[in-house]
Amino acid sequence: MGALMETFDVVVIGGGPAGATAADDLARKGRRVLLLDRAGRIKPCGGAIPPRLIKDFAIPDELLVARARSARMVSPADVKVDIPIEGGFVGMVDRDVFDEWLRERARAHGAERRIGTFQRIDRDDDGTAIVRYEGRPDKARGEGRDEAVRARMVIGADGARSEVARQAVPGADEIRYVFAYHEIVRAPEQPGPDYDGTRCDVYYRGTLSPDFYGWVFPHGQTMSIGTGSADKGFSLRHATGRLRDAAGLAGTETLRREGAPIPMKPLRRWDNGRDVVLAGDASGVVAPASGEGIYYAMVGGRLAAEAADAVLATGNARALATARKRFMKEHGRVFWVLGIMQRFWYSSDKRRERFVSICKDRDVQQLTFDAYMNKRLVRNKPMAHVRIFFKDMAHLLGLARV
Ligand SMILES: Cc1cc2nc3c(=O)[nH]c(=O)nc-3n(C[C@H](O)[C@H](O)[C@H](O)COP(=O)(O)OP(=O)(O)OC[C@H]3O[C@@H](n4cnc5c(N)ncnc54)[C@H](O)[C@@H]3O)c2cc1C
Repeated sequence: MGALMETFDVVVIGGGPAGATAADDLARKGRRVLLLDRAGRIKPCGGAIPPRLIKDFAIPDELLVARARSARMVSPADVKVDIPIEGGFVGMVDRDVFDEWLRERARAHGAERRIGTFQRIDRDDDGTAIVRYEGRPDKARGEGRDEAVRARMVIGADGARSEVARQAVPGADEIRYVFAYHEIVRAPEQPGPDYDGTRCDVYYRGTLSPDFYGWVFPHGQTMSIGTGSADKGFSLRHATGRLRDAAGLAGTETLRREGAPIPMKPLRRWDNGRDVVLAGDASGVVAPASGEGIYYAMVGGRLAAEAADAVLATGNARALATARKRFMKEHGRVFWVLGIMQRFWYSSDKRRERFVSICKDRDVQQLTFDAYMNKRLVRNKPMAHVRIFFKDMAHLLGLARV
């Protein structure tokens, strides 16, 4: 049976930022790659990306529908702290266009694209993975045909609630989620005095989220307004309504309403020790406190591609584990710090008030933005780090009044 079935070096399941990046990198290395993606809905996402992503993954200007040049932090008492993004910007992308562009780039470099929904991994007589999927729906029958291909390696990049992870990677079913919801609205035609299409607004307020934040992000002709929470009893829809009121955007036309889970922390294992490795939301890599996932998904896709390529080259399946190891070495500490920040600063309105107030500090602004924009810590200002560290610790230990 196996001899008749098509065989790919790598089958990448999921064509979001993680899968499209992995497929592109592997195709460029000359591997025979299949990029399998479910047709359908646009990924619900605020679409904010940092300059480091634009640079590292060669994203062309035309994909940016807006450039945010400042961020406004809004406290529970409506204190507003505007932070200019000096010498740079946060890029805004529309995920339908952005993701399709990434998938087409992979195709242009030699990856094969197919529409299909992953179902399961079986094994051939010689142990090779057989990836079974439901193909494009047949017009007459209204349902997709069962299809299958052989894969020397499989990359599971099928997002939060990954079916590949659930089936192939031990421990993946323990993953926990935050839920996020947003509304895409038309940007106001006659904007009020407070509107700025180059500013991202971030609301820290218990009524908008008990444990995360609410956002208003400009997207050129449209805007993304949303919020998130791990509290299942909290109505994200009602909170988004309140946020629209607070931002003066209640009356604007709503184009889409959509939500999705965001994984809360990286899985302990990303591979099956044999021929499957995970990337992106499937592996749990979304930054706590900020909810940033696109950059980390693309880094994860790249590392999974490198790991799969190494196994193909050497036959040593232990190389699969390098994807997680290298990711955590580079980003694990930032994830840990952001996790502590979220638990501490987002836990009451008193603390949120204080957090926004701390953001008036120029050093805090510079450090935070440099960490976000360039994914590195400013090393030439050691005293600023020390000062902020002690300030934070004083609050954490209750030595300062919060
Ligand atoms: C409301 C909201 C707002 C967000 N805002 C931001 C933001 O502003 N900035 C940011 O950086 N991050 C944001 N994130 C997080 C970000 O969207 C994700 O981290 C990112 O999309 C992860 O990329 P991915 O490629 O791993 O997964 P996804 O983008 O989810 O892609 C997974 C792909 O797999 C496909 N797939 C799923 N199941 C199957 C299957 N069985 N068979 C075949 N294909 C399948 C899907 O169709 C999809 O194409 C937000 C998330 C949410 C929910």
